[in-house]
Amino acid sequence: EYDVVESAEFETAGDFGADERIPPVVAVVGRPNVGKSTLVNRILGRREAVVEDVPGVTRDRVAYDAEWSGRRLTVVDTGGWLPDAAGLAAAIAEQARMAVDLADVVLFVVDATVGATDVDEAVVDILRRSGKPVLLVANKVDDAATELEAAALWSLGIGEPHPVSALHGRGSGDLLDAVLEALPEPPPPVQTAEGGPRRVALLGRPNVGKSSLLNKLAREDRVVVDDVAGTTRDPVDELIELGGRTWRFIDTAGIRRRYRENQGADFYATLRTQSALERAEVAVVLIDASQSLAEQDLRIISMVIESGRALVLAYNKWDLLDEERRYYLEREIDRQLHNARWAPRVNISAYTGRHVDKLVPALDTALEGWGHRVPTAKLNQFFAELVAAHPHPIRGGKQPRVLFATQAGVRPPRFVLFTTGFLEEGYRRFIERRLREEFGFPGTPVEISMRIRE
Ligand code: GDP
Ligand code: GDP
Repeated sequence: EYDVVESAEFETAGDFGADERIPPVVAVVGRPNVGKSTLVNRILGRREAVVEDVPGVTRDRVAYDAEWSGRRLTVVDTGGWLPDAAGLAAAIAEQARMAVDLADVVLFVVDATVGATDVDEAVVDILRRSGKPVLLVANKVDDAATELEAAALWSLGIGEPHPVSALHGRGSGDLLDAVLEALPEPPPPVQTAEGGPRRVALLGRPNVGKSSLLNKLAREDRVVVDDVAGTTRDPVDELIELGGRTWRFIDTAGIRRRYRENQGADFYATLRTQSALERAEVAVVLIDASQSLAEQDLRIISMVIESGRALVLAYNKWDLLDEERRYYLEREIDRQLHNARWAPRVNISAYTGRHVDKLVPALDTALEGWGHRVPTAKLNQFFAELVAAHPHPIRGGKQPRVLFATQAGVRPPRFVLFTTGFLEEGYRRFIERRLREEFGFPGTPVEISMRIRE
């Protein structure tokens, strides 16, 4: 049997190199009661309340979206980790190691009114050896008089103490400025979709009805707004008005041009599909419903999924179907297209015009799923529940855990799981299934990758 999606959908990143798409991770480390949660709240601007907690009790949410000076950050409160580790010092040390592995910058919080303790000094050792940027936060500096005590923390030997009152906000802006300075330069902004009409690629093997559908669409609405011709960049697109909006159909010249039936035809068709996908946001894959699903249909669907574009499946030539074929078609779809089950489906006839008007709602659905973003707080609540109810199976005495997750991007939605070990494929598929059940994502592939702390 043909596996439509392959495992390319899940790219795994085992190293901790800078992944441009993940907002930098800022981990907050320190002994209990030094004010980590309060500081996280302060950084978030109290947009999301961190759960009130008793020391030693697991917090079910650890990662939060934050923004400072226009830069997105993921703030991780490590206070919730390892509540059951043997002894405070061991727990904090382990927490610090995790933070160092996962974070781009570590905020090491010390209670300035208490001063440096032995545990603090042990943590400093770990942090210093990591080579990661560390900012020393001298917390509970509520007034100028306490600044002296903050200065005493120079003795820890990891640089300048940043005096802050997490509770009142004093110094927190300066601290965040310092965080941004410690981060690597932000990558150039990812190429966002150009404005203008949404870009649609009409794909499918020869004779499924692409040019018929194109003609129908252009004629039905009578408005071929423009034939974009002659420019080197977009030599072959057509702007078509559908549902009151203009859409850019990519490479319509390639659809209308008939391919000669020679040995290279397949190769050129693949190239054409590839280059149309590169420029498209959403693909409509036409399938001839009157015939059995061909390997070429599946290959085109795989190409769309791998390109990370939104997908609509259009079963054409519906006018040719009888009861029996309809029955077998459903079974075929169930059996062979299970990996694209999330794609909206329309059953159309380019010949009679049946349900051609359903195409626009399907495109809208797919594009919406493609651009959907789940707030990190919601995501982590979801993962906390999921992992508690369905932990990863134990392998070789170890049980990888999802520490937190973040949505690194949209178009398509991309998730990064920060884990304590490699999540096996079955578990990742389970996660994707549950993510879709919870948050939808119709019409779009979803990428899940891992950052593993070995
Ligand atoms: P965590 O265990 O490190 O997360 O510490 P919390 O954020 O729960 O704070 C512990 C206690 O210290 C709470 O009672 C906070 O209100 C208090 N606290 C936190 N930051 C400050 C601060 O800047 N000044 C003062 N005076 N108290 C603070
Ligand atoms: P393309 O190669 O994908 O562009 O396919 P065409 O649009 O050239 O269509 C191939 C053949 O299928 C032509 O003979 C069309 O008339 C026929 N065709 C296309 N759509 C339909 C449809 O919905 N119903 C029926 N019965 N025939 C269709």
